[in-house]
Amino acid sequence: MNKLVSGSAARLRSFLFGGGLTCASCGADLFSEERFCERCLEKLPFNAGYICEKCGRSIGEDYPVCLECKADMPSYTVARSAFRYEGDIVRLVKKFKTGSKYLADVFAEYMAPLVPAAFPDADFFAFVPMTERAEKRRGYNQSRLLAQALSARSGVAAEEGVLVKTRETSSQKELSRKERAVNLKGSFRVHERSLCRGKSIVLVDDVLTTGATANAVASALFGAGARKVYVLTLASVCSRGG
Ligand SMILES: [Zn+2]
Ligand SMILES: [Zn+2]
Repeated sequence: MNKLVSGSAARLRSFLFGGGLTCASCGADLFSEERFCERCLEKLPFNAGYICEKCGRSIGEDYPVCLECKADMPSYTVARSAFRYEGDIVRLVKKFKTGSKYLADVFAEYMAPLVPAAFPDADFFAFVPMTERAEKRRGYNQSRLLAQALSARSGVAAEEGVLVKTRETSSQKELSRKERAVNLKGSFRVHERSLCRGKSIVLVDDVLTTGATANAVASALFGAGARKVYVLTLASVCSRGG
């Protein structure tokens, strides 16, 4: 094939498959509609083994719920995630939060199938908000991008402005589960209450760590009359056991 023809083939492929001519992880050239090359795809930590029925985290054995949920049942209805937060996914999430916005659509491809499977009565997507200042600093809210990409793939609406984050919370990293809950208390507010009444809402975020954020937002949504609050994240930190 001469250069011109192969160039237009690449453009056609790009048109048909929406860009993504290189592996989203290692950058290798791709010759199919896949988003990752075979080697990278094989290494991705799909959350495909046993999971906790409540929080959706990977769990070592076939128990109904993990130890964390058993000790302190989350307020959201159920949570699900496409990947375990480990390996290349950790690196890709970091990339996503530092400018690589195109990853939203790549991630959504793997998250979208969870919607009909786990949240069949979903009315709309909402996303975890950032404070105005934090969003200005990053230039975008990565959870909003995920919600928009999921909406485009699933046909379920993504609602803007359902929630607001009213104050900056200190970094959660060093805090215990209890401390995180206290830190987050009252920091999320439902702006569009009428939108939430009686609805099954899918709250979208990038990573489920302790679930403290998801819990705080779910409580606010239930307070506004939501019927169910599902949580959908790209990845979740593994549970300590069942
Ligand atoms: Zn690759
Ligand atoms: Zn759990």
